[in-house]
Amino acid sequence: MAQETLNPFEIAQKQLDEAAAKLNLDEATHELLRWPMRELHVTIPVKMDDGTVKVFHGFRVQYNDARGPTKGGIRFHPLETIDTVRALAAWMTWKCAVVDIPLGGGKGGVICNPKEMSEGELERLSRGYIDAVGRILGPEKDIPAPDVYTTPQIMAWMVDEYSKLKGYNVPGMITGKPLELGGSKGRGDATARGAMYVIREAAKVLNIDLSNATIAIQGFGNAGQYAALLAKELYGIKVVAVSDSKGGLYNPDGLDPQALVDYKLKNGSLANFPNAESITNKELLELDVDILAPSAIENQITSENAGRIKAKIVAELANGPTTPEADEILFKNNVFVLPDFLCNAGGVTVSYFEYVQNLYNFYWEEEEVHKRLDTKMTKAFKDVYEMAKENNVNNRIGAYMVAVSRVAQAMKLRGWV
Ligand code: GLU
Repeated sequence: MAQETLNPFEIAQKQLDEAAAKLNLDEATHELLRWPMRELHVTIPVKMDDGTVKVFHGFRVQYNDARGPTKGGIRFHPLETIDTVRALAAWMTWKCAVVDIPLGGGKGGVICNPKEMSEGELERLSRGYIDAVGRILGPEKDIPAPDVYTTPQIMAWMVDEYSKLKGYNVPGMITGKPLELGGSKGRGDATARGAMYVIREAAKVLNIDLSNATIAIQGFGNAGQYAALLAKELYGIKVVAVSDSKGGLYNPDGLDPQALVDYKLKNGSLANFPNAESITNKELLELDVDILAPSAIENQITSENAGRIKAKIVAELANGPTTPEADEILFKNNVFVLPDFLCNAGGVTVSYFEYVQNLYNFYWEEEEVHKRLDTKMTKAFKDVYEMAKENNVNNRIGAYMVAVSRVAQAMKLRGWV
């Protein structure tokens, strides 16, 4: 067997190829969907606190806009590559289509390590990024949002910089903003909340009683932290393990999610949290739990460890945590995977609600956001579940078949293919 690729864009193309074959997609449609429509590479000089100038490299990829303006976050990460951004932009295209919101897919990234930068340096980098890519952004063109290591504060600097360039306030150019600048109620926990709704639907079809279930969560950023809190709060799921980039914690009797979040906020990491056994990120993945929620980064479940996954449900809050080879193994072993672009689509769904509120200049109550999110996620789950069952494919390919056929239909109606 050829060696398993860990290049996210090659993986995204491979997943698409499999769905395209199942859908009997014509060659032109397939080829168009294999590549980003447009990408911009930028070089950004930033004045550092010590008086030197550091030069950063960044990207914005607009993958496909047949269904609407492109949408997707901006990642600040030391290991960012153009192929990661391309893959993430492709996944955003499928994500917006699977929850049926009128947006295409895009993604941005800057190679940098925010953990080693001061607040002032981060602000100058954020503004510099918008100065560099702002010409291809806008509510009618491409709408960024937060992603790994970018925050509502960073969105605030970005909307401010863009608005200065335009000469007036443009809240709908970016989402995930603080409430005071036109953010939406319910956006903070939306990714995790959306995942909880699809976990609830999966538990129904699998006959799992969530109030007796256990969950292990890999990654303790926005998605992982809220997943821990909401798992307990919404359905009484017991959180038995969590981890961050420094390592993990395990307690079969359950960990207190709020105490974990407070500890992480205070200490910057989960290390040395009391009353828990320390485990590695790899060990966490193989725990005997009902639900495993990879909520960090790509390529965590590969052909090397997929055979040892014991969870009944893998809920992918991260983007791209599972390779195609691992997917095959999990499917064979009857592990029910909630694929990334379905499972974590709650974030962009509430981003879309934020954008709608910005364009209307009229804001909703939190309850309304939750209700509309639930409707979107539940419908998307059902569409994917039925498609996968009908075609006897795994849920990821089922999700691709739903999403790709929607994008393909839009391209056809536009006369592109
Ligand atoms: N970065 C998030 C994602 O990968 C959110 C994107 C958005 O809200 O536009 O889905």
